[in-house]
Amino acid sequence: MDYDVKGNLRRVLGDLPEGVRLVAISKYHPNEYIEAAYAEGQRIFGESHEQELRQKVESLPKDIEWHFIGHLQTNKVKYIAPYISMVEAVDSLKLLREIDKQAAKHDRVIRVLLELHIAEEETKYGLTLDACRELLTSGEWRELKHVQICGLMMMASYVEDEEQIRSEMMLARNFFDEVKQAYFADDDAFCERSWGMSHDYRIAVTCGSTMVRVGTTIFGPRVY
Ligand SMILES: *Cc1c(COP(=O)(O)O)cnc(C)c1O
Repeated sequence: MDYDVKGNLRRVLGDLPEGVRLVAISKYHPNEYIEAAYAEGQRIFGESHEQELRQKVESLPKDIEWHFIGHLQTNKVKYIAPYISMVEAVDSLKLLREIDKQAAKHDRVIRVLLELHIAEEETKYGLTLDACRELLTSGEWRELKHVQICGLMMMASYVEDEEQIRSEMMLARNFFDEVKQAYFADDDAFCERSWGMSHDYRIAVTCGSTMVRVGTTIFGPRVY
């Protein structure tokens, strides 16, 4: 292993204030990297491809909590429904319905986050703030008993300008408060704010993040 996974992991954890959890993003990295982080006590890992995730789940310890962090196609939901701990990037009612349907088959409740589109990049997935309000106002999600909406997720623009990153994350942070008050005031489970990646997690923890998703800083560059 050419990367000091354990040392990097310890450094990232040392940067996180109490109450902020780490999702170690292991996509495209081999099992031995995940095992090294696991040996240090890390239990939450994030992946973005269903097949790769399936192979890892079969060969790695069963007490790992897997988060699906990428864009999830509805036809892939059935494969991850038996074991996925959280689906972080739900950006349509259609996907939410499918997760509910598949979770029901396994008698599970799957925790999800709604993904916001705030960054300037056009290619990124996610709900605009208005689309998110609309989804929640429609109320159908309340009937879905096998999904639990636990908070919001977003990616800031991939830019050098820290002020821009900060303002996007604060927009998400303030939007969280709006949504919490309007729809989840009595729901303690709605508490997660997933923002911050390798290049901006230190900013994210000053902008209300409860969950950072860090890959490269821990595992090194991905080999695609
Ligand atoms: C890959 C990925 C990350 C981790 O990115 P790094 O820059 O390697 O830390 C975080 N979030 C999402 C949604 C990703 O796809």
